[in-house]
Amino acid sequence: MISVGEAVQIVRQQTPVLAGETVQIEAAMGRVLAQDIVADSDLPPFDRSQMDGYAVRAEDVKYAPVQLRIVGESAAGRGWHHKLEEGQAVRIMTGAPVPAGADSVQQVELAHELKDRTVVELLETVEVGRSIVKQGAEIKAGETILKAGTTINAAMMAVLAAFGYAKVEVFRRPRVGVLATGTELVPIDQRPGQDQIRDSNNYSIGAYAELAGAVVERLPLSGDETSLLKKQIMDGAQRCDMIVTSGGVSMGVYDVTKSALRELDAEIFFERVALRPGKPTVFARLPNGTLVFGLPGNPVSVSVTFNLFARAALRAMQGATEPALKQETAALARSAKGTKERESYLPAQLTTNDDGELIAFPLKWGGSSDFVAFAVATALVIVPADVKTIEAGSLVNILRLP
Ligand code: AMP
Ligand code: MG
Repeated sequence: MISVGEAVQIVRQQTPVLAGETVQIEAAMGRVLAQDIVADSDLPPFDRSQMDGYAVRAEDVKYAPVQLRIVGESAAGRGWHHKLEEGQAVRIMTGAPVPAGADSVQQVELAHELKDRTVVELLETVEVGRSIVKQGAEIKAGETILKAGTTINAAMMAVLAAFGYAKVEVFRRPRVGVLATGTELVPIDQRPGQDQIRDSNNYSIGAYAELAGAVVERLPLSGDETSLLKKQIMDGAQRCDMIVTSGGVSMGVYDVTKSALRELDAEIFFERVALRPGKPTVFARLPNGTLVFGLPGNPVSVSVTFNLFARAALRAMQGATEPALKQETAALARSAKGTKERESYLPAQLTTNDDGELIAFPLKWGGSSDFVAFAVATALVIVPADVKTIEAGSLVNILRLP
């Protein structure tokens, strides 16, 4: 049995990065950059006023109040392109270029215009540089703003747009086939008969895979028959970068996932992880290169193991620099129990207390089949192997669920 950390390492080592592709900026949100984003111009592109007010020479406003002659107006997109001389002021708007000769902007609230708006009286002194953002102060042409491997968020969309990236190179989305095993399963639009249940795993796996940036294909339910399972894995592998199965990896007579993989000459990298829930998780590669995660059948185990392992692989395939979920710390709101030889990942809800500290409430749940209780979890609390109990109030490592 290997540790969770070792298993994540193996996943990262065995996962190839997919090729890049060019997409329109409109389709770039959430994708991983396959190129650096470089500024094609200074920002601001000129000395820019931060306020509505008057561009002046600070020297002329050393003593206030003082009256200066208004010689022009500089608006955003329509600047005043002359040189401001001693004793002069230019009416200026937020975002407009500061004229040559001016070295400061006094805000409109500290001034008023007189004599048919030909003169402005400034009520307070102003120092050099006030309310001016100098050309290139935010970024200089040629500087790298975003590195390849960064996941594009909404704020970064403005960066792409501002520097003219109408098209951008991102890593291809992985295609994931989801495949549920189990004779007891029926499709969700059917009423389960005697001894049957609806397949729910394919829907959580599909949703988590999409959150990780994948394109999902649903493969037909495969029962518990090795030959059918083999056929469906081979069929899916023709189109998919990864297949995620659920069920059939325990020690029962009908647990056929591993034998199917062996008969398909898959290389199995691990098949047991020191993890609760999710010990019998399988990670393998088919001869054609398609990766396979054989997750346990219990729905909570599915969510935990998918997010620990398959998610990391999907993010790594897309070139993400930090593919695994990041650990954070939180204070435990009530005690949490560990287990022998295995790390526990227990469902919890995160809140903050009055001091702004992160608090994790472990949920009451009925074990790895209890997906109803798990549905409101927002995080997993990590209890190290061989720790009996972590007391309330202790700091623990957590993972936020996607
Ligand atoms: P297994 O690992 O195949 O023995 O399955 C463990 C438990 O998970 C059994 O109770 C199964 O009925 C349940 N299970 C397996 N696959 C699914 C699925 N796709 N949706 C919901 N429950 C499942
Ligand atoms: Mg089964």
